[in-house]
Amino acid sequence: MSVTGFIGLGIMGKPMAKNLVKAGYDLVVYDIVKDAVDEVAAAGAQAASSVAEVAAKADVIVTMLPNSPQVEDVVLGADGVLANAKPGTVIVDMSSISPIIAREVAAACEAKGVTLIDAPVSGGEPKAIEGTLAIMAGGDSAVFERVKPILEKMGSSVTLVGDVGSGNVTKLANQVIVALNIAAMSEAMVLATKAGVDPEKVYHAIRGGLAGSTVLEQKIQKVLTGNFDPGFRIELHIKDLQNALDASHAVNVPLPLTASVMELMQMSKAAGDAGNDHSGLIKQYERLSGVEVRAGKE
Ligand code: NAD
Repeated sequence: MSVTGFIGLGIMGKPMAKNLVKAGYDLVVYDIVKDAVDEVAAAGAQAASSVAEVAAKADVIVTMLPNSPQVEDVVLGADGVLANAKPGTVIVDMSSISPIIAREVAAACEAKGVTLIDAPVSGGEPKAIEGTLAIMAGGDSAVFERVKPILEKMGSSVTLVGDVGSGNVTKLANQVIVALNIAAMSEAMVLATKAGVDPEKVYHAIRGGLAGSTVLEQKIQKVLTGNFDPGFRIELHIKDLQNALDASHAVNVPLPLTASVMELMQMSKAAGDAGNDHSGLIKQYERLSGVEVRAGKE
């Protein structure tokens, strides 16, 4: 039976890997954090002690790493996947990285007979746990069809959007929409609270209208309770917006609202909030307005 590899067992990778084990895949896993490897091994995976070990054992290797430099390091590094993989290996990179780098890494792989599909995800930790992520893929359609059954164990929507790199372009579009939604929710709730209206009642009044959104539904409780444990960290969203600005400038597209929200997120980071959930961006608005948006506050 073929072996599937999984590298990067963080907030997202850990539950995604566990879902593959649950679905019956023979999974070999690695992360630089040994506790994470041990936890997924306890759920039934084989523990590996290096990237090279995963590459030598697996035919399909999923990566779920923070950003472009880590993907370059794990795939192209001296003792990385490419240096140790058999020709015909497929890498499914599910990290959210620069589409420009995704294409460069894929080209280096292609030269060695290894195919890379970029397949970033949306949905966050809750959907990673449920196995209901939205997965947006780019790459060769025949290879995509081969790995689709694996992706379907982690996501409820799996879409091939185009050539390699298209998955990450789609993810950047997603991240621009999410960031701007969070900023809009923050502005609206700070306005309501400072103007003397209970933000929880505002939420209930507007959620069924045009302002209702998935962001509002998933994030309002964090705002109303003031618990900004991640979820999706502000520092990762800054990374995505930087990748969006770089990719947009490369094709001569200005993103004025994205640039503004990027700077607000940088203010949050400078204030020590980088590790908070991205809904914690509202704290930056609260500091600017001298008000806290919490349940029962008006
Ligand atoms: P994370 O930081 O929790 O996990 C990344 C993991 O990669 C860590 O366990 C880290 O130890 C490991 N790692 C780093 N360098 C490594 C290396 N050289 N070799 C092996 N392992 C290495 O991040 P996350 O929240 O799981 O996010 C992973 C990716 O998914 C990011 O690109 C992120 O933008 C994207 N994403 C996250 C969410 C979310 O809600 N957290 C949602 C959608 C997409």
